[in-house]
Amino acid sequence: MARYIFVTGGVVSSLGKGLSSASLAYLLKSQGYKVRVRKMDPYLNVDPGTMSPFQHGEVFVTDDGAETDLDLGHYERFTNISAKKSDNITTGRIYSDIIKKERRGKYLGKTVQVIPHVTDRIKEFIVGDITNEDFVICEIGGTVGDIESLPFVEAIRQFSNENGKGKSLFIHLTLVPFLKSSDEIKTKPTQHSVKELRSLGIQPDIVICRSQKSIPLDQRKKISLFCNVSIDNVIETVDVRTIYEAPISFHNEKLDKQVLNFFKLKPRKKVNLTPWKRITKSVLEKKKIVDIAIIGKYVNLKDAYKSLDEALIHGGIDNNVKINLIRIESDKLKTNQIKKLLKNISGILIPGGFGKRGTEGKISAINYARKNKIPFLGICFGMQLAVVEFARNVLKIKKANSSELDKKCYPVVGLLNEWSKDGKLIKGSNKDLGGTMRLGIYKANLRHNSLIEKIYKSKFILERHRHRYEVNNNLRNKFENKGMIFSGMSPDDKLPEIVELKSHPWFIGVQFHPEFKSRPLNPHPLFSSFIKAAKFYK
Ligand code: GLN
Repeated sequence: MARYIFVTGGVVSSLGKGLSSASLAYLLKSQGYKVRVRKMDPYLNVDPGTMSPFQHGEVFVTDDGAETDLDLGHYERFTNISAKKSDNITTGRIYSDIIKKERRGKYLGKTVQVIPHVTDRIKEFIVGDITNEDFVICEIGGTVGDIESLPFVEAIRQFSNENGKGKSLFIHLTLVPFLKSSDEIKTKPTQHSVKELRSLGIQPDIVICRSQKSIPLDQRKKISLFCNVSIDNVIETVDVRTIYEAPISFHNEKLDKQVLNFFKLKPRKKVNLTPWKRITKSVLEKKKIVDIAIIGKYVNLKDAYKSLDEALIHGGIDNNVKINLIRIESDKLKTNQIKKLLKNISGILIPGGFGKRGTEGKISAINYARKNKIPFLGICFGMQLAVVEFARNVLKIKKANSSELDKKCYPVVGLLNEWSKDGKLIKGSNKDLGGTMRLGIYKANLRHNSLIEKIYKSKFILERHRHRYEVNNNLRNKFENKGMIFSGMSPDDKLPEIVELKSHPWFIGVQFHPEFKSRPLNPHPLFSSFIKAAKFYK
């Protein structure tokens, strides 16, 4: 049986449970173990797909087409293991499954309750779709003590009890604040948080203490005493200079060693921290700065374009430059300011998006990038708007738009009701907004001698999608005659996947989201190439 590691959080949210889980996963994997990382989210949305990025940050998409919490992105980036649909669950999904079953009379007349029905469903999730993994790391969203997370905490308590104590390990991540006025580190919030967890029947085995400063031995002893955790299992995590330092820092603090000790295991091979040391050094070094403008709707929330920000940084690492991301709110981008705002920029990126607000600003920025030959990358919505811009200003189709934005337009981008995958036809839309998009990995064939073929060095690619609308393929000849090439197509040649401009050094639009597949240790070729073009633009 796999060994289970449950990660809970206390005191405050945003302490970096995801990053801690991801770093631990890397360390165990690097020492020869097979690892899976999962996330349980206590909110009532069935998946985060319909949540605004303002609310919850980016929606991450897996190969198999699940719309998941952005922490799964951290897991993938650190472990290089592709997450699956079965690695993320929400309270909403659990209740929706249970209520569906109840309506079908599957509970045989029983009263359906949180215990055992909800907790059983959570336990099913924990063990589901696991084959020969040595470790399953399960992160529980939210903070211990929240009403929403209670069933999850109860389920992991039951799980540990039912499977034998030595099979599951509880890690609790808390905050150890530093009070400047008294120059003191305070352990009380950690004591209270662990007390709360213990009142729910869980004694943590390891406490990870997030702190601004290193925690002195006396305070560690105090945490050990009050929290009933051996002193070696009080692990500190002092704010790192870059997230890529996290695996190194956790290893130095012996988190992986203590986890293996708990399960009475030894490393199967020596941990490899060299790549993290290399990129930490590279990120911290002073070097040429490349200004990249991201023009989108959700620029004020740091996590709204998490994978994208990461992918650009990876591209920077690959080109030995530092990326300065300039986030511009598309809503506020008026045509007369474009020149002023974009004058010193070396690359323009329009990310994925939905809805009308701010689209005209994005289209003006695309026009500026096209005319001034500034490196441009349009992702999903960004590609669709690049097509609209070209149709309006080069093909002179005045009413060109996407039918998502204007029902009466000339639809150069429109709703495709059917597309094929694995030989099956899938209906494109119904009334539900959740789970009805073209999601997950799809293949695209690349045009011979195109820029995109040179970048990927391949005849075809597999990339992740998340969209409902498609570029209208019936207009292909019109576009190509004027210099916008459809250089990537779905295997049936019906869906434009990539566009590029013949007379521009680097102008690419992609219907998919390459950012989901970029890794710090393996930067995505499209981002590397985009940053390279930007580096030499100025
Ligand atoms: N709104 C567009 C669509 O649904 C683009 C989506 C996106 O950028 N992810 O097709």
